Order: sequence, then C-alpha cells, then structure tokens
Amino acid sequence: MDKTKLTPAMRQFIEVKEKYPDHIVFFRMGDFYEMFFDDAIKASSILGIALTKRNSKGGTNEAPMCGVPYHAYESYASKLLKAGEKVVIVEQVEDPKKAKGVVKRDVVAVLTPATSHLGVDSDYKKNYLVSIYATEKKSAMVVGDPTTGELSIFRFSGKNSADKLFEQLSLFQPKEIVSPFGIVETGYLSKKLGYSPSLNEYDESFFNEREGEEKIKELFNVSTVAGFGLKGKRECLKAIDGYLNYLEENYRTENIPVKSINLKEVSDYLIVDSTTGKNLELFETVFERRRRGSFFWAIDRTKTPQGKRKLSDFIMFPLKSVEGIEARLNFVEWLIESGKIDDIDSLLSYVGDIERIFSKVVLNSVKPQELNILKQSFAVTPHLIKLLENSPFKSVSGEISNLEDIYLLIDKTIAEEPPSVKGMNVIKNGVNPELDSLREIVSDVKSSLRRLEQQEREKTGIQNLKVKYNKVFGYYIEISKANLKNGVPEGYERKQTLVNAERFITKELKEFEEKVLTAEERIVELELEIYQQLLDRLKEYRREIFETAESIAILDVLLSFAKLAVERDYRKPEITEKSVLYIEQGRHPVVEVFENENFVPNDTNLTEEKRIAIITGPNMGGKSTYLRQNALIVLLAQMGSFVPARKAVIGIADRLFSRVGAGDNLTGGQSTFMVEMIETANILNNATENSLIILDEIGRGTATFDGLSLAWAITEFLAKKGQKAPRTFFATHYHELTDIDKLFSNVVNFNVVVKEWNNELLFLRKVVPGAADKSYGIQVAKLAGLPKEVIKRAFEVLENIEKNEFSLDGKPKIARKEAFEMKERPLFMWEEHPVLEELKSINPDTLTPLEALEILYKLKKLL
Ligand code: ADP
Repeated sequence: MDKTKLTPAMRQFIEVKEKYPDHIVFFRMGDFYEMFFDDAIKASSILGIALTKRNSKGGTNEAPMCGVPYHAYESYASKLLKAGEKVVIVEQVEDPKKAKGVVKRDVVAVLTPATSHLGVDSDYKKNYLVSIYATEKKSAMVVGDPTTGELSIFRFSGKNSADKLFEQLSLFQPKEIVSPFGIVETGYLSKKLGYSPSLNEYDESFFNEREGEEKIKELFNVSTVAGFGLKGKRECLKAIDGYLNYLEENYRTENIPVKSINLKEVSDYLIVDSTTGKNLELFETVFERRRRGSFFWAIDRTKTPQGKRKLSDFIMFPLKSVEGIEARLNFVEWLIESGKIDDIDSLLSYVGDIERIFSKVVLNSVKPQELNILKQSFAVTPHLIKLLENSPFKSVSGEISNLEDIYLLIDKTIAEEPPSVKGMNVIKNGVNPELDSLREIVSDVKSSLRRLEQQEREKTGIQNLKVKYNKVFGYYIEISKANLKNGVPEGYERKQTLVNAERFITKELKEFEEKVLTAEERIVELELEIYQQLLDRLKEYRREIFETAESIAILDVLLSFAKLAVERDYRKPEITEKSVLYIEQGRHPVVEVFENENFVPNDTNLTEEKRIAIITGPNMGGKSTYLRQNALIVLLAQMGSFVPARKAVIGIADRLFSRVGAGDNLTGGQSTFMVEMIETANILNNATENSLIILDEIGRGTATFDGLSLAWAITEFLAKKGQKAPRTFFATHYHELTDIDKLFSNVVNFNVVVKEWNNELLFLRKVVPGAADKSYGIQVAKLAGLPKEVIKRAFEVLENIEKNEFSLDGKPKIARKEAFEMKERPLFMWEEHPVLEELKSINPDTLTPLEALEILYKLKKLL
C-alpha cells in the first residue's frame, strides 16, 4: 500500500496495524472507536454491527469500516476477546482543539483473551494463560490466570515429557498459549482440546532462564528463587520468563499482579485425566455440555467467586496424602460441630472477587465501585478471624489478615456511591482541603449566577434579562430584542443573534466562567491524583491481600463442604493408605439430587483380596450410576469432603480412570472404537495397584465376539495382577464375562436387581452379589416405546434361539453357546467347573418347577 496516498489518520492506522497485525485495532475518532479493512469485516460479523465504507484517501478508494461508541467499548471488546480475538486500543493523546494538523494518536492498551479482565467468561471460570517450554527430556508448563494472579508450574521429565505436558495441558482449557516457535502442533492441540486456543509463538530469547529468575526475585522481593523450589530448574524458569514477558508486553508495565508461584508435582495429586473428567461430568454434562447436572453444580455451595474457582481446583487436584486430606476433613467437621456455619456463611456473602479486583488495582485499571466491593470484603476480615479462633483452620490454609486498616483507608477516601468514571465526585469531602474549596466554588455557581443576574437586571433595568449556559458558548446573557430598543448595555459584547433575542458576554461573566472551568479542571486533576495515591497505598498490602483472598477461597470451599454435608447428610470418610474401598449405603452425588428420596443407596466392598467387581444387569438397571458413584465418592473424599454414604473407608487412589464403551461415547466419527481401545491401552499401561478404574461397557463398540473377547482379555490382564490389581469396576452386558471369577480369586460378580412380571420390568437399582441371569434387552426396548409387534416378534425370536431352533440363513442349526465356544475356545480353556458340567446335562424345558428347585440346591452344594 502506498502510504503517501493515504489520509494522515489512515497513515497512523496503518502504522499501528503493522505493529499489531494479529490484533483488531480500535481507532479513536471523535466519539467512536473505528475499525478498518479486514478488522472491520471480522469485527462487524462477530459483533453483529453494520459494516460501512470510508473514503480512505480522499479519492475513490473505499475502505470497509465499522465503529462502536467509545463509552461503550468495553462490552464490544469483551465480545471480541471471548471470540478469541485480540484488541488494540488507539487513543487520541492530545486535545483535538489544540492539535496542529492531525491529532496525535497512540496505543494505550493491548487486550488479549487470557490477559484482559474483559476476556473473563464468568466468576467461576479461570482465564488460563499457559506458557510452555519443552525439550526432549525435560519440559515445563506455567499455568496461570493473569486476572487473578494465580500461577502454577508443572514439570515433566523422561523421554515423552512433552506428551505428558500436553496431556496435563488439556485439563486446563487455556485461552492462550505462549511457546517457542514450532513446539505446539496446532492440529494436535485443537483435537486434544476440542477448540483452538490462541497461540503466541516467540524466539528462544523470549524464554530466558536468567531473566525469569530476576523477574521472580523482583516481583516477590526475594534474593533467591530457592524458596519457590525453582533453583536450577532451567525449563521452569524459561517457561516463567515467557509467561511474564507476555504479560509485560500486553500490560505495558513490569508491575504484574502475580499472587504466588506454586511448583506443582503431578505426583502429589490424584490424577484425573481429561477423558475421565469428561466421563464423570465433573464440570459439564456429556450430552448438553451444560453446568447444570454436573458434579461441580451438584456440590457447589460456595459464596465467593474465588471460592468457586478454588472448588474447581480442588476437583482438578484432589490430594493424595492422608495427612492433607484429614486436615481438611477435620476442619469441615469442626465447622459442623462448632455451629458456626451460618455466621461464617453470612460474612462470606459480603466478600466480592478480591483476587480479580485487586489484580486491577495493581494494573491501575480498577473502577471506583470495585474499590467499594474490596472495602466491603475487607470489613469482614476481623470477624472471620474471630470466628475461626481455636479452629484447625491453620492446618488447611495460610492466614486471613485483619484488613480493617485498608477498609478504613478506602472508606475514608471513596464516596459511598461513586460514579463509574474516575475524576468527578469519586473522592469524599474532607480528604483534601483544596478539593473541598474547589467544590464549593463550583457548587456556588448557581447562587452566584442568580446574584449576577439580579445585579445586571438592576443595572440595565431589563427585567427579563437572563444568564444562561450552553456547551458551545459557555455562560452568556440573553436579552429579548424588544428590550434592546434603547441600545446594547455598556460593556456587553455581542456573541450571537437569534430571531427574538441577542446573546452577550461581559467581562465579569467571563471571569466567572474561567473560575468555574479552572476549578472543574483542577478538581478532576486532584481527584485522579488522590485516587492514584490510594491505589499505591493499597499495593503496599499486596502480599496480605492476595494471601487473604487465597485463604478466604479455601475457607469458602470447606464451608461449602460443611453445608453440603449437613444438607445432604454426607458423612466423614475414613482415609487409609491401604488399597481398599468400603462404602455403606453409598449414593451418587448428582443423580440423588434429581431422584431425591427415590434414590437407592448401594454398598461397595473392594478389599485387598477382592479387587475387581464385574457388574451385570439390564440397561437402565443403574450400572453406570453405581460405577460413577464409587469414583465420585473417592474423588470427594480425596478433595477433603464428606461423602454421600452412611460409612466409607477410602483407600487413597493415585489415579482415577473412567472409560465408557463407544456406544455411549460422544467423540463421534468412524474411529470411536479406536479411541476406546487407545484409551483402554492407556489405562492398562498406567494403572497401578493404587489406581481406581471404572469401565462401562468397554468392548461394546465392535462385533459381539470381538467385543466380548476384548472385554475378557482386559479383565484377565488386570486380574492376573492378583493383590496388586488396580481396584476395578467393570459394567458389562456380556454375561459370559461373569465366569471369569472362577479363574481369578480377586474377581467378584455383582448384578443390579430387576424384577420381571409378565414381561414387564421393575428396576430395583440394588446392586447385589452374583451375576445377572439374563439381559432383559427386549423388556428394556419395550420400556423405550418400540412398537408392540416388534417386541412380540423379538420375544419369539429369542425363544427360538434359546431353544436352538433358529438359524438365520437356513444352514444347520448351531446353538448360540456352541457357536460362541467354537469361535472363542482359546479364551475359555480352563478346567470345566462341576456346576457347568451339571448344567450342560440338563434341559430346562423338560423340568418341572420342583425338579428345577432340587437341581438348584444341588448346584449350590457344588460351589
Ligand atoms: P445402566 O448403566 O445400567 O444402563 P444407569 O446407571 O444409566 O443404568 O441408570 C439408569 C437410570 O436409573 C438413571 O438415569 C438414574 O436416574 C436411575 N438410577 C440409577 N441408579 C439409581 C439408584 N441407585 N437409585 C435411583 N435411581 C437410579
């Protein structure tokens, strides 16, 4: 583009655009921010606003253009950020009235989805920015929320360190990623995440170990990074440098809100991989992808935004140490027993989003009303401290500081109901004497004007002479034409002539006007100065404020656990290092919300000897619910919460795996079975004796015999580990699988009870020992509303098959079981159990009920 042919303003625009090619430029022109060219096309479609054209060089060439009113820019910018775009704000930096030639403009803010508060989706969601540094053997990932100051680092080592990193990354759903060129394969990433976060790639020099170290020292005012466990951890320091550099670039300051730095070892937590998280519907439901109906939704009783975010942390990072878990459980118990739940609860309702607001204080972008929310939040701190006296709170959290002083500071300075714009009437009276007297001058205006008006009337003898004000002329005197017959009064200078009247100014009026305008200008200046001083004072309390926000967040979550326990009768679990799982009258924390008193509690008992439970029973019988309820109870316990059960002994799990057979899987596409098998392989390779696995209809995604064979082989693989087998729940409709308990003593069968009456089914939702005797598929289909003829015919076909009298293709009739055994014999090469032999020899069709009962007794004796 030939810049010389452009209008001067357009030239300014192009210059900014050259520096920020990936950003949408908001270019201030008068009362609007205008967008041009491709920016305008993109923005107008995202924002749903009209796309127009502008003459860009005073000639015929027209530029696409759209605009948004400057005072409402935040909502528009926010929409663009949430759509993943970045925005640059270009402001007029000199008074257009005083400008010679084109008004000077400059970039005043750079907004990106992860770094700007305008990009935040909701209170309870983090706005993750991730910085990656990966080498062949060592990788590090900084995961932070720039809008709350949170920052954690994860390290990964070993040959596939980068793979582990990406697996972990997918848990966070970051908005943006910062990395050296070429590390992130975008196709792979977006497949793994299900969306494409914005990727910011930089040269190696952006990730400098030394600089990373220096920046941490400066931010936290320490002489070494050893206290953060980062000494000599090159890849971590590089990733941190990249993270902080990115923020410095966008915030255009080195004073960055970082609350603390946590080096997290993945091995310290119960690992819940992303597929497991999805299957367990931890944060959203699988089908509708809604929050309502998720685990988070069912257990969340938090009051504050930081509490909600902390709860999601607790869900993502459940603990693994008995000590850590018990500390939380004991505090929850203390809350319940002390009877202080309601008092603390009502105090927490005054607490706002301290983290996000204070981050804005650090960046000088906080609004006056937000300061009042901080004030209100700080006011409760002394009361909270008092209520928590003699409690074991210290063992689960850092300190809540008494922030009464800061409360007073804000209270003294900021008006109770300040306007949203800084500069006018934000500062209270009595803070600054000059400000007070200037305000008096301005507020005297009305009476002064009336005095002046009266005085001029008397002087001129014109009774309807009026002193008035408008934006264009400022103050003036208006006299109707009829009253000007005797000439213009002395000292009056004509300003404007209307049809019936003339407008004048006088020397005195001008002086008066200047006094008012100067006073107003000075008021704005002073207010801004005092406001900034207050922010600077608040920043001095940075450590206490961030720490208190963190502690209040933890308190909020544990209080939420206590409330939930009381409300839904959750009980304190016993935690042990032993790899067992004992649950009496367990319930599913989400399903029971919907089922209320209809929910049927169930028991669980996996011991060191009996470790693998196979659950059979018809569809809709309650198998999946039972599986998931066991996993969620373990998860809740390791989060430090009471659990929905009458009694529970939870052996700590190191990993939680949940996989659902392809039939239920929503990954879509032709390779769902492939996905299922890859995931299963992942479990088989990674599960340890302390892991907990739930497999729901694994193997279903392929032909029956393949599926059964796989299900069998998978169970066998796990069972062979004997007492070191991971605790496993396997729900299946392959009844053949239930025979496996005869081969391995660590396998037990359970089934969900149904009652059958006249081919109708009654689901009791009770899990009992033993294998299910049939699958009831047709009865379930009937429940689903399949046409009567179809159901009737299905029963006939089934009957025929069971009598071995049916063959689809007219070939010699082969019994189903025989056919199965012919194909699958290698899998069933164990010594025949006497019960089986006995069973084979009888023909049920020829038995009387009494004979059947006798045989049953006989069989039982053979076991
Ligand atoms: P399956 O996995 O055997 O097909 P599900 O676990 O999906 O069965 O359960 C089917 C329905 O039964 C669920 O939607 C749930 O509402 C209900 N349900 C499951 N377990 C229980 C229970 N223990 N008490 C009451 N209702 C239950």
